[in-house]
Amino acid sequence: MIIAVVRENFPGEKRVALIPASLVPLRKIDAEIVVETGAGVAAGFPDADYEAAGAKIVPSRADAFAQADVVLQVRSLGSNPVAGRVDLDLVKPGQILIGGCDPLGNPAAIQEMAAKGATQFALELIPRITRAQSMDILSSQATITGYRAVLIAATELHKIFPLMMTAAGTLSPAKVFVIGAGVAGLQAIATAKRLGAVVLGYDVRKEAQEQIESLGAKAVDFQLESGGAQDKGGYAKDLGEEFYKKQREFMANTVRECDVVITTAAIPGKKSPLLVNTAAVNGMRPGSIVVDLAAERGGNVEPSEADVRVDHNGVLILGPTNLPAEVPQHASQMFSGNITKFLLNLVKKGEKELTIDPEKDEIVAGTLVARGGDVVSNRIREMLG
Ligand code: NAD
Repeated sequence: MIIAVVRENFPGEKRVALIPASLVPLRKIDAEIVVETGAGVAAGFPDADYEAAGAKIVPSRADAFAQADVVLQVRSLGSNPVAGRVDLDLVKPGQILIGGCDPLGNPAAIQEMAAKGATQFALELIPRITRAQSMDILSSQATITGYRAVLIAATELHKIFPLMMTAAGTLSPAKVFVIGAGVAGLQAIATAKRLGAVVLGYDVRKEAQEQIESLGAKAVDFQLESGGAQDKGGYAKDLGEEFYKKQREFMANTVRECDVVITTAAIPGKKSPLLVNTAAVNGMRPGSIVVDLAAERGGNVEPSEADVRVDHNGVLILGPTNLPAEVPQHASQMFSGNITKFLLNLVKKGEKELTIDPEKDEIVAGTLVARGGDVVSNRIREMLG
């Protein structure tokens, strides 16, 4: 079996799907690894490191696709809708594609790949079960996102984060409000605490309050009904406009008091709920910072725009959509760990080849989106209508 790693060609993408260290656990299976030249350079992994780990370097993407039984990518067509189209001419029937592909955001791309005969696994659809935690790219990359969001806010803010008592006077700590305490949000809370800020956290899921407090932050409770805020897959549910309207009214008072607001509330496959409206931002002091981590799908903050620096009456609003690419080495290390565990899970004990059996493994069933010329995920079929 030949497994290929290609150079990511999405603009600004610096991650790589497999790092040289992951070749060690992959020795358990009978695989030859081929790497497109330069695939890991932007993440800090030169070709020589892959060669030293036993991989073969090939000169082009076309070569990698031509040789491979399995292609590993951070972003396949769905999450790379323009540059990723080159792959439609390179992919072979029966070839296995594993990686991110934004299946809920771009189901049409899954259909296009299916029509080429590819067998595609969407790692965004890893089920939220304990056994699959080590394969979960959304969680691993959200960890980096939450951390990075705080660092950006800290460098953009006109203040320092920690309390400082100096001979020149006392500087009061910055106040940071993190809305949505999932993986990214909890990491943002932890990072802001480490930098010495006073941190407030809020989540619609009641159980998140304890997690917020365990990091030394204050859990804000708006006393809003939030029973059943999670779907059976463990993701936040769409709670309806009436709920969000109430939430925005309560939230505006807390937002106004803070120097930094970081929002992380996303609903997979849906437009993000609007949590901080323009009126709430109007109440913030000039020089304050808002980082909207949900900007890619419409945003949690009314005046935010994806990947645009918005100056709203002196409040800087950022909507970064690919923060893991700004920390490409560690983001790739985690992504590579996820994809390696996923690959090894496809190999049955005592065997060396991949077995794809959705009937027997809910991880395979959850992530397999295209096979034998068809879209095989019911969820995506429904979206395609
Ligand atoms: P996410 O990216 O889907 O959403 C981010 C957070 O925003 C969530 O905590 C969500 O509750 C919150 N949110 C959504 N709407 C909101 C609103 N209107 N107001 C305030 N907050 C809102 O979530 P996530 O980061 O992927 O994780 C959510 C939970 O799932 C976490 O507890 C995480 O630990 C858990 N998780 C479990 C597994 C597993 O068991 N394998 C894997 C991943 C995540």
